[in-house]
Amino acid sequence: MRIDIITVLPELLESPFNHSIVKRAREKNLVEINIINLRDFTTDKYKSVDDYAFGGGAGMVMMIEPVFRAIEKLKSEREYDEIIYTSPDGEKFNQKMANHLSMKNNILILAGHYKGVDQRIRDYLITKEISIGDYVLSGGEIPAAAITDAIVRLLPGAISDEQSALSDSFQDDLLAPPVYTRPADFKGWVVPPVLLSGHTAKIEEWRHDQSEERTKRLRPDLLDD
Ligand code: SAM
Repeated sequence: MRIDIITVLPELLESPFNHSIVKRAREKNLVEINIINLRDFTTDKYKSVDDYAFGGGAGMVMMIEPVFRAIEKLKSEREYDEIIYTSPDGEKFNQKMANHLSMKNNILILAGHYKGVDQRIRDYLITKEISIGDYVLSGGEIPAAAITDAIVRLLPGAISDEQSALSDSFQDDLLAPPVYTRPADFKGWVVPPVLLSGHTAKIEEWRHDQSEERTKRLRPDLLDD
Protein backbone atom coordinates (compact mmCIF):
# COMPACT_ATOMS: atom_id res chain seq x y z
CA MET A 1 0.00 0.00 0.00
CA ARG A 2 1.09 3.57 -0.64
CA ILE A 3 -0.04 6.68 1.22
CA ASP A 4 1.01 10.11 -0.11
CA ILE A 5 0.40 13.23 1.97
CA ILE A 6 0.52 16.76 0.55
CA THR A 7 1.38 19.33 3.19
CA VAL A 8 2.84 22.81 3.68
CA LEU A 9 4.49 21.62 6.90
CA PRO A 10 6.41 18.42 6.10
CA GLU A 11 8.40 18.73 9.35
CA LEU A 12 5.21 18.11 11.33
CA LEU A 13 4.89 14.66 9.78
CA GLU A 14 8.44 13.45 10.35
CA SER A 15 7.97 11.95 13.81
CA PRO A 16 4.56 10.20 13.62
CA PHE A 17 5.71 7.79 10.93
CA ASN A 18 9.15 7.04 12.36
CA HIS A 19 8.19 5.14 15.49
CA SER A 20 6.52 1.98 16.68
CA ILE A 21 4.10 0.04 14.46
CA VAL A 22 4.10 2.48 11.52
CA LYS A 23 7.89 2.55 11.41
CA ARG A 24 8.07 -1.25 11.46
CA ALA A 25 5.38 -1.52 8.76
CA ARG A 26 7.45 0.80 6.56
CA GLU A 27 10.61 -1.23 7.22
CA LYS A 28 8.74 -4.42 6.25
CA ASN A 29 7.57 -2.69 3.04
CA LEU A 30 3.92 -3.17 4.01
CA VAL A 31 3.36 0.51 3.37
CA GLU A 32 5.20 3.32 1.62
CA ILE A 33 4.46 6.74 3.05
CA ASN A 34 5.55 9.81 1.10
CA ILE A 35 5.39 13.37 2.32
CA ILE A 36 5.02 15.89 -0.49
CA ASN A 37 5.88 19.53 0.16
CA LEU A 38 3.24 21.70 -1.50
CA ARG A 39 5.76 24.55 -1.78
CA ASP A 40 7.67 22.47 -4.37
CA PHE A 41 4.72 23.11 -6.68
CA THR A 42 4.71 26.91 -6.45
CA THR A 43 6.07 29.16 -9.21
CA ASP A 44 6.80 32.45 -7.41
CA LYS A 45 10.00 33.19 -5.52
CA TYR A 46 8.17 33.38 -2.16
CA LYS A 47 6.75 29.88 -2.67
CA SER A 48 3.27 31.19 -1.81
CA VAL A 49 0.54 28.66 -1.20
CA ASP A 50 -2.14 30.99 0.23
CA ASP A 51 -3.94 34.16 -0.77
CA TYR A 52 -6.69 36.49 0.48
CA ALA A 53 -10.28 35.28 0.38
CA PHE A 54 -12.50 36.69 -2.36
CA GLY A 55 -15.18 38.79 -0.70
CA GLY A 56 -12.87 39.75 2.16
CA GLY A 57 -12.88 38.54 5.75
CA ALA A 58 -10.21 37.26 8.12
CA GLY A 59 -7.89 34.43 7.21
CA MET A 60 -6.05 33.22 4.15
CA VAL A 61 -7.11 30.50 1.72
CA MET A 62 -4.99 27.70 0.25
CA MET A 63 -4.63 28.41 -3.48
CA ILE A 64 -5.76 26.04 -6.18
CA GLU A 65 -2.75 26.22 -8.56
CA PRO A 66 -0.03 24.51 -6.46
CA VAL A 67 -2.50 21.90 -5.21
CA PHE A 68 -3.67 21.21 -8.76
CA ARG A 69 -0.07 20.85 -9.99
CA ALA A 70 0.86 18.53 -7.12
CA ILE A 71 -2.19 16.29 -7.56
CA GLU A 72 -1.84 16.19 -11.38
CA LYS A 73 1.82 15.15 -11.11
CA LEU A 74 1.04 12.43 -8.57
CA LYS A 75 -1.94 11.21 -10.60
CA SER A 76 0.25 10.95 -13.71
CA GLU A 77 2.43 8.46 -11.83
CA ARG A 78 -0.26 6.18 -10.39
CA GLU A 79 -4.00 5.77 -9.99
CA TYR A 80 -5.36 6.78 -6.59
CA ASP A 81 -8.22 4.88 -4.99
CA GLU A 82 -9.08 7.95 -2.92
CA ILE A 83 -7.91 11.57 -2.83
CA ILE A 84 -8.79 12.67 0.67
CA TYR A 85 -9.10 16.18 2.07
CA THR A 86 -9.00 16.44 5.87
CA SER A 87 -11.72 18.83 6.99
CA PRO A 88 -13.77 19.48 10.15
CA ASP A 89 -16.96 19.27 8.05
CA GLY A 90 -16.01 15.95 6.41
CA GLU A 91 -17.38 12.49 7.16
CA LYS A 92 -16.49 11.52 10.73
CA PHE A 93 -13.53 9.10 10.77
CA ASN A 94 -14.13 5.76 12.48
CA GLN A 95 -12.84 2.20 12.58
CA LYS A 96 -15.10 1.07 9.72
CA MET A 97 -13.61 3.75 7.49
CA ALA A 98 -10.09 2.75 8.58
CA ASN A 99 -10.88 -0.91 7.75
CA HIS A 100 -12.23 0.11 4.36
CA LEU A 101 -9.26 2.34 3.50
CA SER A 102 -6.75 -0.30 4.65
CA MET A 103 -7.86 -2.44 1.69
CA LYS A 104 -6.91 0.21 -0.89
CA ASN A 105 -3.64 0.35 -2.85
CA ASN A 106 -2.97 4.07 -3.27
CA ILE A 107 -4.29 6.87 -1.10
CA LEU A 108 -3.51 10.57 -1.39
CA ILE A 109 -4.26 12.90 1.53
CA LEU A 110 -4.30 16.69 1.26
CA ALA A 111 -3.69 18.42 4.60
CA GLY A 112 -5.42 21.80 4.67
CA HIS A 113 -4.30 25.01 6.39
CA TYR A 114 -5.39 28.60 7.05
CA LYS A 115 -9.18 29.08 6.59
CA GLY A 116 -9.13 25.96 4.43
CA VAL A 117 -8.64 25.29 0.72
CA ASP A 118 -10.21 27.01 -2.29
CA GLN A 119 -13.59 25.29 -2.63
CA ARG A 120 -12.84 24.33 -6.26
CA ILE A 121 -10.16 21.92 -4.98
CA ARG A 122 -12.85 20.15 -3.01
CA ASP A 123 -15.35 20.25 -5.87
CA TYR A 124 -13.07 19.03 -8.66
CA LEU A 125 -10.06 17.18 -7.22
CA ILE A 126 -11.07 15.52 -3.95
CA THR A 127 -12.91 12.18 -3.79
CA LYS A 128 -13.43 11.94 -0.01
CA GLU A 129 -13.50 14.41 2.90
CA ILE A 130 -12.69 13.18 6.40
CA SER A 131 -13.04 14.84 9.80
CA ILE A 132 -11.32 13.39 12.86
CA GLY A 133 -13.80 15.02 15.23
CA ASP A 134 -15.95 18.03 16.01
CA TYR A 135 -13.15 20.45 16.86
CA VAL A 136 -10.87 22.64 14.78
CA LEU A 137 -7.12 22.01 14.54
CA SER A 138 -4.63 24.43 13.01
CA GLY A 139 -3.85 22.16 10.08
CA GLY A 140 -4.56 18.80 8.46
CA GLU A 141 -1.23 17.16 9.39
CA ILE A 142 -2.41 15.70 12.71
CA PRO A 143 -5.61 14.37 11.09
CA ALA A 144 -3.54 12.92 8.20
CA ALA A 145 -1.20 11.25 10.71
CA ALA A 146 -4.15 9.87 12.72
CA ILE A 147 -5.85 8.47 9.62
CA THR A 148 -2.60 6.94 8.34
CA ASP A 149 -1.77 5.34 11.71
CA ALA A 150 -5.26 3.83 12.02
CA ILE A 151 -4.97 2.36 8.51
CA VAL A 152 -1.40 1.06 8.76
CA ARG A 153 -1.92 -0.90 12.01
CA LEU A 154 -4.62 -2.88 10.18
CA LEU A 155 -2.33 -4.06 7.37
CA PRO A 156 -1.64 -7.79 7.66
CA GLY A 157 1.78 -8.21 9.30
CA ALA A 158 1.92 -4.69 10.76
CA ILE A 159 1.18 -5.91 14.27
CA SER A 160 3.10 -8.98 15.37
CA ASP A 161 0.04 -10.52 17.01
CA GLU A 162 -2.64 -9.96 14.36
CA GLN A 163 -5.40 -10.89 16.77
CA SER A 164 -4.44 -7.81 18.73
CA ALA A 165 -5.77 -5.38 16.09
CA LEU A 166 -8.91 -7.47 15.64
CA SER A 167 -9.69 -7.35 19.37
CA ASP A 168 -9.27 -3.56 19.62
CA SER A 169 -12.22 -1.30 20.36
CA PHE A 170 -14.79 -0.68 17.58
CA GLN A 171 -14.07 -3.90 15.68
CA ASP A 172 -17.48 -5.67 15.92
CA ASP A 173 -18.89 -2.36 17.24
CA LEU A 174 -17.75 -3.20 20.77
CA LEU A 175 -15.29 -1.50 23.10
CA ALA A 176 -12.27 -3.57 24.10
CA PRO A 177 -12.35 -5.43 27.46
CA PRO A 178 -10.01 -4.27 30.27
CA VAL A 179 -6.44 -5.63 30.26
CA TYR A 180 -4.06 -6.40 33.15
CA THR A 181 -0.45 -7.45 33.60
CA ARG A 182 1.82 -8.45 36.51
CA PRO A 183 1.71 -8.19 39.46
CA ALA A 184 -1.59 -10.02 39.97
CA ASP A 185 -1.98 -8.28 43.34
CA PHE A 186 -0.82 -4.68 43.74
CA LYS A 187 -1.48 -3.32 47.24
CA GLY A 188 -4.61 -5.48 47.41
CA TRP A 189 -5.88 -4.29 43.99
CA VAL A 190 -6.34 -7.68 42.43
CA VAL A 191 -6.72 -8.90 38.87
CA PRO A 192 -10.05 -10.67 38.11
CA PRO A 193 -9.39 -14.32 39.11
CA VAL A 194 -10.76 -15.73 35.83
CA LEU A 195 -7.77 -14.24 33.98
CA LEU A 196 -5.42 -16.30 36.13
CA SER A 197 -7.45 -19.51 35.76
CA GLY A 198 -5.82 -20.71 32.53
CA HIS A 199 -9.31 -21.65 31.29
CA THR A 200 -9.34 -20.22 27.73
CA ALA A 201 -13.09 -20.56 27.07
CA LYS A 202 -14.01 -18.91 30.39
CA ILE A 203 -11.52 -16.09 29.74
CA GLU A 204 -12.99 -15.47 26.29
CA GLU A 205 -16.52 -15.45 27.74
CA TRP A 206 -15.46 -13.00 30.47
CA ARG A 207 -13.82 -10.71 27.91
CA HIS A 208 -16.89 -10.73 25.71
CA ASP A 209 -19.18 -9.95 28.68
CA GLN A 210 -16.87 -7.11 29.72
CA SER A 211 -16.88 -5.70 26.18
CA GLU A 212 -20.67 -5.75 26.06
CA GLU A 213 -21.04 -4.24 29.53
CA ARG A 214 -18.55 -1.43 28.79
CA THR A 215 -20.15 -0.67 25.43
CA LYS A 216 -23.67 -0.50 26.96
CA ARG A 217 -22.41 1.75 29.74
CA LEU A 218 -19.95 4.01 27.88
CA ARG A 219 -21.01 3.98 24.22
CA PRO A 220 -24.59 2.68 23.87
CA ASP A 221 -24.76 4.44 20.47
CA LEU A 222 -22.44 1.74 19.04
CA LEU A 223 -25.09 -0.89 19.69
CA ASP A 224 -27.79 1.07 17.80
CA ASP A 225 -26.42 -0.17 14.46
N1 SAM B 1 -12.21 27.24 8.49
C1 SAM B 1 -12.27 25.82 8.66
C2 SAM B 1 -13.60 25.42 9.25
O1 SAM B 1 -14.15 26.19 10.03
O2 SAM B 1 -14.08 24.30 8.95
C3 SAM B 1 -11.16 25.33 9.58
C4 SAM B 1 -9.80 25.45 9.00
S1 SAM B 1 -8.57 24.73 10.02
C5 SAM B 1 -7.97 26.09 10.91
C6 SAM B 1 -7.24 24.41 8.92
C7 SAM B 1 -7.20 23.00 8.35
O3 SAM B 1 -6.99 22.07 9.40
C8 SAM B 1 -8.44 22.52 7.64
O4 SAM B 1 -8.47 22.98 6.31
C9 SAM B 1 -8.30 21.01 7.72
O5 SAM B 1 -7.48 20.50 6.68
C10 SAM B 1 -7.57 20.82 9.05
N2 SAM B 1 -8.47 20.42 10.15
C11 SAM B 1 -8.78 21.16 11.23
N3 SAM B 1 -9.59 20.50 12.05
C12 SAM B 1 -9.83 19.29 11.49
C13 SAM B 1 -10.61 18.17 11.87
N4 SAM B 1 -11.33 18.15 12.97
N5 SAM B 1 -10.61 17.09 11.05
C14 SAM B 1 -9.90 17.09 9.90
N6 SAM B 1 -9.14 18.14 9.49
C15 SAM B 1 -9.11 19.23 10.27
